[in-house]
Amino acid sequence: MHVAISGLEKIVPTLEDVATLMRLLPRSATGQSISNYVDILTGTKGAGEFHGAEHMYFIIVDAGRSSVLASELKEALRCIRCGACMNHCPVYQNIGGHSYGWVYPGPIGSILTPAYIGIENALDLPQASTMCNQCGVVCPVKIPLPDLQRKLREQQFDRHLRPWSERLGLRMWSWLAGKPALYAFATRVGARVLAWMGGRERLIHKLPLGSGWTEGRDMPAPAGKTFRDLYAARVRGERS
Ligand code: SF4
Repeated sequence: MHVAISGLEKIVPTLEDVATLMRLLPRSATGQSISNYVDILTGTKGAGEFHGAEHMYFIIVDAGRSSVLASELKEALRCIRCGACMNHCPVYQNIGGHSYGWVYPGPIGSILTPAYIGIENALDLPQASTMCNQCGVVCPVKIPLPDLQRKLREQQFDRHLRPWSERLGLRMWSWLAGKPALYAFATRVGARVLAWMGGRERLIHKLPLGSGWTEGRDMPAPAGKTFRDLYAARVRGERS
């Protein structure tokens, strides 16, 4: 007896589609031209045949996929689970795939998890992104991952789900960013303080105002210079 269980988004119309996806998947996942794990079954065994199942059953799992299909996140259902978005993501490269504790890791997990279990139950996932679009560039099925993360952030904002401390912090940042001289001074002080906190190891074990991030990992200390300082030094170097 052969029992196949699949999410409904994994069903494709033709064998040509299967061939295309079987080329895309291992090349995007591990760089191999073909996976070792491909079975092509065309049904139960016929009369007089030795190999094959006598009975075949297909269980198609919905578990929230229909509602995702009807939502603005439907493009996420194209995912073939190759993992390329996670392997190229600057965030997940540093923190590890399953750091946030959910089944689906990486950028696509930060969309599918809130889509399946509700945004209020996975608030931090869409925030764990720099929006650099590295994931969107490498995705073989062209899922616009940062756009979908932005839509989830918009939902959080519209439903007033973000914590007051974050809203206050952003207001303070916006006030500071409107005063360039003060902003430059404050960021210089901040960069030097963080570099000092890193000590000789250049690792921060407990981040002020962000201790959750350093509970399970250390944060590499910055160089002690701001981006503006580094950029200005580079421009001066190129001119000299
Ligand atoms: S979102 Fe794209 S890159 Fe990420 S696992 Fe799915 S198919 Fe691969």
